[in-house]
Amino acid sequence: MSFIEFDNVSYTYAAQTPNAVKAVKNLSLKIEEGDFVALVGHNGSGKSTVAKLINGLLIPEHGKVTVDGMSTADKKSLFEIRKNVGIVFQNPDNQMVATIIEDDVAFGPENLGLSPDEIRKRVDWALKSVDMYEYREGAPFRLSGGQKQRVAIAGVLAIKPRAMVLDESTSMLDPVGKKEIMDIVHKLNKEEKMTVIMITHFMDEAALADKIFVMDDGELILSGAKKVLTDPLLAAHGLDMPPACRIAEGLRKGGMNIGEVYTPEELAEEICRSL
Ligand code: ADP
Ligand code: MG
Repeated sequence: MSFIEFDNVSYTYAAQTPNAVKAVKNLSLKIEEGDFVALVGHNGSGKSTVAKLINGLLIPEHGKVTVDGMSTADKKSLFEIRKNVGIVFQNPDNQMVATIIEDDVAFGPENLGLSPDEIRKRVDWALKSVDMYEYREGAPFRLSGGQKQRVAIAGVLAIKPRAMVLDESTSMLDPVGKKEIMDIVHKLNKEEKMTVIMITHFMDEAALADKIFVMDDGELILSGAKKVLTDPLLAAHGLDMPPACRIAEGLRKGGMNIGEVYTPEELAEEICRSL
């Protein structure tokens, strides 16, 4: 069994009312421990609903979601599931609960009932992991958006989850803040072997993942390795390729010999090689 599994999952908001919205339809997917996956799709395609289904904030209407073999529909497992999967949301301002940064990061481990010693250790480690340790005694409201989001990530890290879901967590950040978050997430995946599920509508961010899931209108329309990002089906669903892929395609049409690339760095290398 995979670490996270969706087995034919559907979810409807306001079910059985005239305002019912079928947000997720017959979705099946598998995520292995240690994976770095991206979930991409337009606004309203059902991505955030999937995020909430993963850690039991929402329970499937049909089908089953399991995390490490535990069903999210099983109330007894929810605490354990939420220890395993942390979510970082879009707006860092809605995720801060305390007036001092380190108290904010301590909130999760305190709720786990850990000893003060262990809490201290985890808070320090989490803040160092996101490079915010020196700010620990300050107030969150003084921070930039990127710094706040790093504190929010530290708050999730302090729970020591095995997987982290980032739901458009960089979308309110400037390019520098964005890159900081992506670098941290990459490091956590590579060095701590943390499973990362990055939800985004930016194709250049999706290009950093090893496995891609593409949703449209509540359905999974494509999934697989990076090659998915250049699939013609994307355009049919009104989605762009990552910018590096688009430029590479243009250069190939112009007669340049450019191999398979997904990121600006890979593109630059291919252009140099080709010249
Ligand atoms: P995404 O994260 O890809 O933008 P969402 O999962 O947030 O998509 O939304 C999927 C669909 O469900 C959309 O049509 C959205 O309007 C609807 N939806 C989301 N949250 C709610 C809610 N709390 N109540 C009713 N409809 C909702
Ligand atoms: Mg969303």
